[in-house]
Amino acid sequence: MNQSNQLELHHAIKIDPDKCRACTHCLKVCPTEAIRIRNGKATIIPGRCVDCGECHRACPYQAFHVEQDDLSRIFDYKYRVALFPAVLVSQFPENISEEQIYSVLKQIGFTHTCEVEQPISVLIDSIKDFAQNEYDSEKPIISSFCPATVRLVQVKYPALTDHLVLRNAPHDLAAWYVRMRLAEEGIDPSDAGIFYITPCAAKIAAVKSPVGEKKSIVDGIINMSEIYNRVMSKATGANGAFHTCDCRHEISREGILWSLPEGEKAAFEGKSLSVDGMHNVIRILERLEDGDLPDIDFLELRACEEGCAGGIMMTGNRFLTADRQHKRAETFPKAQSSAGMEELAEKLRIAPVQPRPMVHLDTDMEKAFEKMQKARSIMCHLPGIDCGACGAPSCLALAEDMVRHEARMTDCIFVQQLWQKEGKISADKAFRNLEKKWGENRFDVDCSKRGAKNDNSPGLMNEEEDANLY
Ligand code: SF4
Ligand code: SF4
Repeated sequence: MNQSNQLELHHAIKIDPDKCRACTHCLKVCPTEAIRIRNGKATIIPGRCVDCGECHRACPYQAFHVEQDDLSRIFDYKYRVALFPAVLVSQFPENISEEQIYSVLKQIGFTHTCEVEQPISVLIDSIKDFAQNEYDSEKPIISSFCPATVRLVQVKYPALTDHLVLRNAPHDLAAWYVRMRLAEEGIDPSDAGIFYITPCAAKIAAVKSPVGEKKSIVDGIINMSEIYNRVMSKATGANGAFHTCDCRHEISREGILWSLPEGEKAAFEGKSLSVDGMHNVIRILERLEDGDLPDIDFLELRACEEGCAGGIMMTGNRFLTADRQHKRAETFPKAQSSAGMEELAEKLRIAPVQPRPMVHLDTDMEKAFEKMQKARSIMCHLPGIDCGACGAPSCLALAEDMVRHEARMTDCIFVQQLWQKEGKISADKAFRNLEKKWGENRFDVDCSKRGAKNDNSPGLMNEEEDANLY
């Protein structure tokens, strides 16, 4: 089975082939081995990608970007709601006030605003209800807040999918909440567009292909860095009252802290653990899969270090953002009971989350087992050093690609060298194989490449120092 056709999920991370230099930085950091180098360019295997953004962070050539809707789309609606997480406010320096931020959102064209975490009390009570009255399997339950970690569980740890909390993400809850408030104002739902300003690609993917739901009620997605830049350029002098759905007073301390490490954990009674950063998340999920975690009731996972303060579309420094967020939280009251919001709580329930295993060698279990055995036999002939020169992230990934007929033995430069020595392949053929994998111009002299003498990246040697080498 071709991996590209394996699963049809929406992905927000895209590669610009013109910018890609096939440097393999992304190949090495991808937690699901979703990247391959083919024809001199990085490509993503959709069924493996969890939209975590690690490749975006690692690429020195800015070849990855995150898709978004055009901001002008907001004007398709008479009433335009900016739905944004608390990290949007916290990433600005102290000299930009909350009022200025709200005010610029109005100048941009939004008629209403709502912070995603405003109705958090509904989610807190609903998660408690799930833990106490619905979930009856082995602990811990796993937070479904971060869509990158939810997808990671689905594709890399499918046996743990049953542990996920079956509740919608806060942005969907907030969108329902906004619709409820707009209805109270007598606004026709078809006149209102809700636009989610998001800090990460995973949330965009989650809106376009929601887990456990058919369709999100969010109407569009705006990249947070675009809003950050606009607010920074207009903030000076911006001020004034802003119509905020009359619900800004419902912001709570717990809500503001929700997306940071320990935000959910703090609201959860019982033994819980908070883990942030993809590499840490992977380690803890591996231990859980191996039955090697001490007694824990609730596992809070965030793909980004410092939670959403470290999202790939956040412009501000993540530590300063988190610090400001803690200080801001102190200025708001504790969350109130969600009594009276039962209708909203009902909207939070989602259907069981399905596993989407990434090592999918065949749909037939028997054939899949045979292919796995074949991949292991191929491994005997590969060097086992995971160098990435074949265009796959590891020797095992190359072996699996081979049994899927997506790669060949000669993709391994070590095997190719050996075959050349044994006269099984000509030098010409071997060279053409390399060109096919890495691009025809790969061996051209190019002094502008990273680290070469015409590269002006900070911290590199100047021409004089360079000349002393010879
Ligand atoms: S977004 Fe994450 S999972 Fe997808 S290709 Fe990039 S690093 Fe891999
Ligand atoms: S921690 Fe937050 S910003 Fe990072 S991937 Fe998860 S939801 Fe997105």
